[in-house]
Amino acid sequence: MSADIVFIGLGNMGLPMAQNLVKAGYSVSGHDLVKASVDKLVESGGVTEADAMAAVTKAKVVITMLPASKHVESIYLGDKGILANIKPGTLLIDCSTIAPESARKVAAAALEKGYTMLDAPVSGGTGGATAGTLTFMVGGTDDGFGLAKPYLEKMGKAIYHAGASGSGQTVKVCNNMLLGILMIGTSEAIRLGIANGMDPKVLSEVMSKSSGRNWTLEVYNPCPGVMENAPASKGYAGGFGVDLMLKDLGLAVENALATGSSVPMGALARNLYDIHSKSGAGGLDFSSVFNMLAKAK
Ligand code: NAD
Repeated sequence: MSADIVFIGLGNMGLPMAQNLVKAGYSVSGHDLVKASVDKLVESGGVTEADAMAAVTKAKVVITMLPASKHVESIYLGDKGILANIKPGTLLIDCSTIAPESARKVAAAALEKGYTMLDAPVSGGTGGATAGTLTFMVGGTDDGFGLAKPYLEKMGKAIYHAGASGSGQTVKVCNNMLLGILMIGTSEAIRLGIANGMDPKVLSEVMSKSSGRNWTLEVYNPCPGVMENAPASKGYAGGFGVDLMLKDLGLAVENALATGSSVPMGALARNLYDIHSKSGAGGLDFSSVFNMLAKAK
């Protein structure tokens, strides 16, 4: 049986994204190493095949949502990879967050064989993936972007063409490095205010109308009780995990080394999230870095 779309990687993000494509009326063949995730897609109206590479030979579009660069390279490249199995004209979209260098390498290999490939990492977390409100940052040609947009629009609400191959990943890495740094800075400022007897709600409100304003202060406040709906007020459950932030900061530091850039704040932030993760907080929301900065009792 052939499906319009073959979707590989049905994890926390991939499964709801694939389910939204099914809801939009596409026939979607889902694949993952974890059978339970594939079963969930099939229960929602998707299909599957025993061999993902047999499925890709018949697809119009292949979408991947995998953990890291090594998974993406190994599934696309090599004698048994996607590029060796697809038919001419198949559109390739990788939504995983990976190194920009890796995205450029895989896209160049695709282009060499005449295929269009886009890097399309996302922002918006599992909530955005479920609601179909993700932001996509896309790298690739204008034509490729035009072909991918109708599919991406079924999974997200803001679809940006960032530039040539690897640009989507570059935007993602820059954004998440800044986010990681801002979360630590915001936590420090609130801790300092509290140590001076300030009410963190009042402090946050005034800073939100002053020059220190930023998203982590205004929308995702790290201090419990300041914002009812922020992960901080729910025991730092859900949201964007410390280990995912650590992964993205690792990509930023690696990319800085590869491009000869200086990212002293990004490197410091990576180290702080690393220590925080090793203290057992890896699964908590990244705003829990606020706890690391508690005053000694
Ligand atoms: P996840 O670990 O939940 O899902 C990845 C899935 O890929 C797993 O189900 C795994 O079994 C599957 N997989 C790995 N190798 C495979 C293979 N060879 N064939 C088939 N399936 C394979 O991760 P996630 O949270 O869904 O994240 C996916 C990507 O999205 C990552 O790159 C992550 O950095 C990025 N991202 C995640 C979030 C988030 O909030 N979770 C937000 C933005 C971006």
